[in-house]
Amino acid sequence: MAVCYISIGSNIGNRIENCEKVIREIENFAVLKSVSSIYETEPVGNIDQPYFINCVAEFVTYLTPNGLLVNLQEIENKFGRKRDEIGGPRIIDLDIIFYEDRVIKNDNLTIPHPSAHLRRFVLEPLNEIARELLHPVLKSSVSELLSDLSDEKSVKKIGKFSTSISQ
Ligand code: ADP
Ligand code: MG
Repeated sequence: MAVCYISIGSNIGNRIENCEKVIREIENFAVLKSVSSIYETEPVGNIDQPYFINCVAEFVTYLTPNGLLVNLQEIENKFGRKRDEIGGPRIIDLDIIFYEDRVIKNDNLTIPHPSAHLRRFVLEPLNEIARELLHPVLKSSVSELLSDLSDEKSVKKIGKFSTSISQ
């Protein structure tokens, strides 16, 4: 079984409900170990779009990294994710941040996620559940990455998931 960290984001529709539903879907092929609080975050890149709801969850799974990506993309598609607008609004975005301490780079997949260490909306929730975790390329812990971070986008903790999700 492999431990993986998945970043979940939504900025269309009922954003919190979308994230909860997605966690339930991921549980079809992975065991949920922990989930961060719920965060409301300012968009990066294309800033002319609604604020996101973001969280990070830890799972264990038998799937390979590529198998995990395929399953996550199937969920994105099922939720009606359109792929026409890069960096645009999305019903759901699922990014693999870490998979064990593996370093992977192929046409479809880069792990650790190439932007994770630059994004406050990833590091703040990740720091809540895995502050000591080491980035296998940068060799810094999540809490160190967060304290060195220059991203000043707003990332606000706004609540917790219901206990049915977070237990
Ligand atoms: P982003 O999340 O960067 O805004 P997308 O969600 O549209 O962009 O993803 C674009 C592509 O990123 C996907 O087709 C996928 O193959 C690729 N990708 C590379 N590494 C990862 C990763 N670690 N997690 C999720 N997708 C990844
Ligand atoms: Mg993505």
